[in-house]
Amino acid sequence: MEALAVFGGSPRVSTSSLQSASATIIRSGNGSLSYTQNLTLSTRHLSAFHGSSSLFLCSPSLSHPKRRARKIRPNIFLPTLIASMEDVEETYIMVKPDGVQRGLVGEIISRLEKKGFKLTGLKLFQCPQELAEEHYKDLQAKPFFPKLIQYITSGPVVCMAWEGVGVVASARKLIGATNPLQAEPGTIRGDLAVQTGRNVVHGSDSPENGKREIEALWTMMN
Ligand code: UDP
Ligand code: MG
Repeated sequence: MEALAVFGGSPRVSTSSLQSASATIIRSGNGSLSYTQNLTLSTRHLSAFHGSSSLFLCSPSLSHPKRRARKIRPNIFLPTLIASMEDVEETYIMVKPDGVQRGLVGEIISRLEKKGFKLTGLKLFQCPQELAEEHYKDLQAKPFFPKLIQYITSGPVVCMAWEGVGVVASARKLIGATNPLQAEPGTIRGDLAVQTGRNVVHGSDSPENGKREIEALWTMMN
């Protein structure tokens, strides 16, 4: 049996996913050719954050003390880190009972995360009547108020605090118009709801209300 060719061996192939790659063509006694490939795989690319944990480092070469000493500089983009702290706002987002029952929590979180906002607090919560009335007290005189309170207290809600530059206005845009039939396609209500009285999500309408809803009403502080 003889080795006819050896190629590869250089870690030029995206070092984040392959540590080294080489291949050998071998002729056996009866003249047939066989091909062997030698790949040392690293799953480093599966890790979102390169922390000190070695959970994602399975290549033995990486556990070598000298290699471990080398600092891995993570290439993370966090929009809130590039903004000055005065520009960062907070908003209160709540998945209403219909959104929770319909399994839309992940979808709603995903849309805000993809935009670049940061989730800073989250809880599943059965809203008591008094809190619902306080939260919507500006709408007390409206004919739909009793139904609104009944709706918000009809099942658990998912309460969330979100942070980011311009997050209050931007989240309202992502959520869309109050009446889902008037909400633009691409918005949460435009894509996922049809009734004003079942419009799946709440978002604070001003930075002041965001702060009040997070701190005084729904107590979502870190
Ligand atoms: N609402 C309703 N009927 C109406 C208007 C509003 O049931 O005619 C409900 C709806 O769930 C809405 C909530 O009351 O989300 C609060 O109303 P608001 O005008 O503050 O709308 P939002 O800020 O949620 O878009
Ligand atoms: Mg409102």
